[in-house]
Amino acid sequence: MNHWPDHQRIRKYSGYAETRGDRLRPLHCTMKHPAVSTAPADTAGSSILAADMVDDAGDEGEETKPRDLKWTDSAFLSNTLVTSGKDAVFSADHYSSFMSQFLGEPIPAIAPLARARVMCACQLHTIDAHGDHIHTCPKHSGAKPAHELVVAAVADLARAAGFSTRTRNVTATRVRQRGDIEILRLNVGGHADMVIDVTILHEMSGNCNGINVGLNGQLRGQGESLLEDAAKAKNKKYRETYASNGIQKAFIPAVLTTAGRIHGEFLRLLCILADRETRKNFENLGPAGSPSAEAFKWKRAFNFNKNRAILARTLAQATALRAQLVMTALRPRRDDPHLRNLNLASLH
Ligand SMILES: [Zn+2]
Repeated sequence: MNHWPDHQRIRKYSGYAETRGDRLRPLHCTMKHPAVSTAPADTAGSSILAADMVDDAGDEGEETKPRDLKWTDSAFLSNTLVTSGKDAVFSADHYSSFMSQFLGEPIPAIAPLARARVMCACQLHTIDAHGDHIHTCPKHSGAKPAHELVVAAVADLARAAGFSTRTRNVTATRVRQRGDIEILRLNVGGHADMVIDVTILHEMSGNCNGINVGLNGQLRGQGESLLEDAAKAKNKKYRETYASNGIQKAFIPAVLTTAGRIHGEFLRLLCILADRETRKNFENLGPAGSPSAEAFKWKRAFNFNKNRAILARTLAQATALRAQLVMTALRPRRDDPHLRNLNLASLH
């Protein structure tokens, strides 16, 4: 791929970022996160999973390079044969919604609303054709079902690896806040159980007011700051209180973006789950299940790829769904004649 002339030409010009697609393109490139992070605790890129990462050291005496875990969202998307067996249907409408967002083009389902300058239910912004406000408005109820899709997919991955999970009645912190998923007896991060909280960020601003209104439609962060800042905020909210004496659970944030980026700690967890699933696969074979190191490694790589592909597909569906549920953001007040008389069919 790196030597493909068209690819080289596009990469060369992507720095100019003339269009929305240009600004999005670098976000679709392969991400690399160190398998074992050496960043000091509570700094960007730090990890509580370092001691639990699977050991890929070479034979004794062989020098091994620090290993990176890779994430290429669009490549995993192309692997549509990998499914969890109960994926939500990716309808044509949802696919066109996702692909428009991927390319930075107006979303067909909401472009008519943008042309008609329809006001969002928050009464502060009109709907824009790229969905920036839909994705960032705190009043948009489409965010919840999209979030639930990802929560369910992560819980499924943990169950496939042989662990009991909870997505309801997750253990609460002392101030009665809860993460989204609890994995029991995973034994990583220094505690038996782990709580995970899922966040799907939008890459562009869409809810800025006042003097910052010009930021709407612009990228929200440089490099990985958007992912890191969100992870830091979640850690601050949950980690210490979950680790405290009465609760004693590990906590990690699971941060994703609508452009398909992933935070390093979540990617490491997907790798750990792939390792545990592989152990279970071979244990299920009974006495015959003592694989060579090579066979184990291949099977684990397969499971890691499967986990990434299922998550990438689910994230694409969640991104599509948030925009497709735009009408829920417009739920009119009874006395709003503008919305009551809105005939969507006439706007196409
Ligand atoms: Zn709004």
